[in-house]
Amino acid sequence: LQVLVCGGPGCLPLGSEELVAAFKAEMEAKGIDGKVILKTTGCHGLCSHGVRVLIRPQEIAYQKVQPEDVAEIVDLTLINGGLVERLLYQDPIDGKFCPHKADIPFYQTQNPLVLRKLDAIDPESLDDYLALGGYRTLRKILFQMTPERVIDQVEKSGLRGRGGGGFLTGRKWRLCRQVPGEVKFIICNGDEGDPGAFMDRAVMEGDPHAVIEGLIVGAYAIGALKGYIYVRHEYPLAVKRLTRAVEQARDFGFLGTNILRSKFSFDIKISQGAGAFVCGEETALIASIEGRIGEPMPRPPYPIQAGLFGLPTVINNVETLANIPEIINLGAEHFAALGTEKSKGTKVFSLVGAVNNTGLLEVPMGTSLRHIVYDLGGGIPGNHEFKAVQTGGPSGGCIPKQFLDLPVDYDSLQQVGSIMGSGGMIVMDTKSCMVDVARYFISFLMQESCGKCTPCREGLKQLHAILTDITSGRGEEKHLAMMEDLCRTMASASLCGLGQSAANPVLSTLKYFREEYTKHIVDKK
Ligand code: SF4
Repeated sequence: LQVLVCGGPGCLPLGSEELVAAFKAEMEAKGIDGKVILKTTGCHGLCSHGVRVLIRPQEIAYQKVQPEDVAEIVDLTLINGGLVERLLYQDPIDGKFCPHKADIPFYQTQNPLVLRKLDAIDPESLDDYLALGGYRTLRKILFQMTPERVIDQVEKSGLRGRGGGGFLTGRKWRLCRQVPGEVKFIICNGDEGDPGAFMDRAVMEGDPHAVIEGLIVGAYAIGALKGYIYVRHEYPLAVKRLTRAVEQARDFGFLGTNILRSKFSFDIKISQGAGAFVCGEETALIASIEGRIGEPMPRPPYPIQAGLFGLPTVINNVETLANIPEIINLGAEHFAALGTEKSKGTKVFSLVGAVNNTGLLEVPMGTSLRHIVYDLGGGIPGNHEFKAVQTGGPSGGCIPKQFLDLPVDYDSLQQVGSIMGSGGMIVMDTKSCMVDVARYFISFLMQESCGKCTPCREGLKQLHAILTDITSGRGEEKHLAMMEDLCRTMASASLCGLGQSAANPVLSTLKYFREEYTKHIVDKK
């Protein structure tokens, strides 16, 4: 019997640690501590209903559990096999209680590959990771596959970078492998900074060995001897868990010289960023690791040609790397069978804002927005009406109601003026003012722009000033055309992705919610 208490980003602040202490004390008092395994795990997904507790093998899922509920759970469920009904998820539509995880609509149509182990393992235990097949992929590549074969598999899987760019991972690896040079690097980009997004944080905190194993596979494929995991310092638990996992992997011979007595040697260093959003951009991230100011550089040369310390470097996002062990393990075809023609596999999203069920979810690419918002998200609280969903982080666009049936994949999102980004999804109901929403994101980007190039630095300031005028009753009709003009200049003349995509919140709201701008201008408020 196992009691798995969620220690993910949503549940931890709600009291996971106190809950684990309460379970420990109660189980000792009742003399069952030797028969029940108690664990703190990574994120269980349904963050709005934390603290979540899962009891295995029955898969009983309790929600909103407090220390005062523990005695009843121990007596009724752990000792007598019954249910504490008031702690079960209740369907907001038909009012039915859902005793098991599989009964809860939020989980029913998910297809977790990356999140698969998060509610099952203690992230600080290498044994837990090994028990679920961890490092099997490493053995397989070292003793049964050439680097070219590994790259073939990743290419065949169709995996695209999950950090936002969507570049084919296998192709990136192949291009870097083909660049001449003895010394190459691979970097895991864990500099997640989008407001409302916590996918990478949850994976680094909840399954750190999967990220490390993916990074070792990537290193083997491109021929790198050294790797970095770049994590923002605002994620101290991720830094702690990754550091511990790297040490464990080293102690077990999964890292270091002659890994598992093969000819392959590789090691990893954890590097902490200081929290600048722009350091998620590859060239700025490289500068930051080198100890320089984290500012983007013009490309070419691309990092695969001249990256860290001027040497060929691959940079992959956390979720991208966490997909790798399963792709090699289960085969590229398994992964490629999920998703759409050009967007294969699954995608992790952090669903926040005006939905009943907020949290982390993983669905096949191509799942419709409607399914995510209404079936998994449980619809809009208070039966308010859906207005828009903002995808792709601060540089993403706001997608209106008429596109609720849009399949979520890289290309479809771009066609309606948004982006996949790293997977943030903010749902808004009819109470949201879309001009305020655009101003919020422009304000965020204005503060995070590094200021190196004029179109982005000055363009964001001007956009922010105009949006402030409009929301303060000083707007004029001509401001709308001025903003569109500014947006075009920023998109074409900015140096890096931040400035090039910064206009999306303004352009998408001007396109789909223009009447709200006009109303501010006409009403002068
Ligand atoms: Fe810096 Fe913005 Fe220019 Fe990027 S586009 S280099 S963030 S000023």
